[in-house]
Amino acid sequence: MPAPFPLRVSVAARAAGLAAAVGVIAGESACADRERTFDGERAFRHLEAQVAAGPRIPGTEGYERTAAYVRRHLESTADRLSLHRFREISPLDSTSLTLTNFVAVFTEESSSRILFGAHWDTRPIAEREEEESRRSLPVPGANDGASGVAVLLEIAAILAERPPRVGVDLVLFDGEDQGVEGQPETYALGSAAFVRDHPDYRPTFVVILDMVGRKGARFPREAHSVLGAAPLVETVWRLGRERGIGVLVDSLGAPVYDDHVPFLRAGIPAIDVIDFADPDWHTTRDLPDNCSPETLEEIGRLVLALIERAEETLSS
Ligand SMILES: [Zn+2]
Repeated sequence: MPAPFPLRVSVAARAAGLAAAVGVIAGESACADRERTFDGERAFRHLEAQVAAGPRIPGTEGYERTAAYVRRHLESTADRLSLHRFREISPLDSTSLTLTNFVAVFTEESSSRILFGAHWDTRPIAEREEEESRRSLPVPGANDGASGVAVLLEIAAILAERPPRVGVDLVLFDGEDQGVEGQPETYALGSAAFVRDHPDYRPTFVVILDMVGRKGARFPREAHSVLGAAPLVETVWRLGRERGIGVLVDSLGAPVYDDHVPFLRAGIPAIDVIDFADPDWHTTRDLPDNCSPETLEEIGRLVLALIERAEETLSS
């Protein structure tokens, strides 16, 4: 991958053709912005690290280890990291939960903001296992949880090197996957609390990434997104076509109650980029082996393209 920060080269060096080799010319910041490159392998290591930490079930060791991991990474990359803490009663077992959304803020001074989100918790029960005795086991959450976080952690590292000219907030939501099947409102607790506790926060758009790591994944247009934010869906899928991001496909997918829904209800354009056709969903087979750096990289490139588009349209 190219150098992780803009190299300053002299006019003489440029004449010698070195500029072409490094791809960046001193003083041309617009040009430098286009040099942001998403490294799928590096993102994949973030995915593996989360799964290696153990299931991210609130209150468990894997949860605490992963909280420390993402906190360290975001503190060292974001302009500011804030921890949004809130309390909930677990829909699954009625215990009291103290949950945390991680809010990584870039270019805080900008009043034009866009938000990318993913959930960092994982499902405590693999209820889609064929064998009943395995349904009480936790989901490892490589695709369902770790993949979206992995993409955003790599985006954070890229933005630390090349700050966006528009406000970008990367939010890792807690409590997305602690719900009761068949009761959608018991899911997406973190985004609901975030929207409730920040009534004046009105980003231009919200893009949620969920299950964005599976090998061979394809992303149809999720139905709630189409119903609630059709122009944003159109913009994102068109941009995907322009950039040759082949994982986005032009079909209509199932509605998924995910972290975009609380934003839609608050009147904020929000969509969910999700591969809901994963055969390992909510099973113990949701492991890194079934994920790939290539899928993460496609989605990462999409996020970078959206940031770049927002810089062109919102930052003047
Ligand atoms: Zn899930």
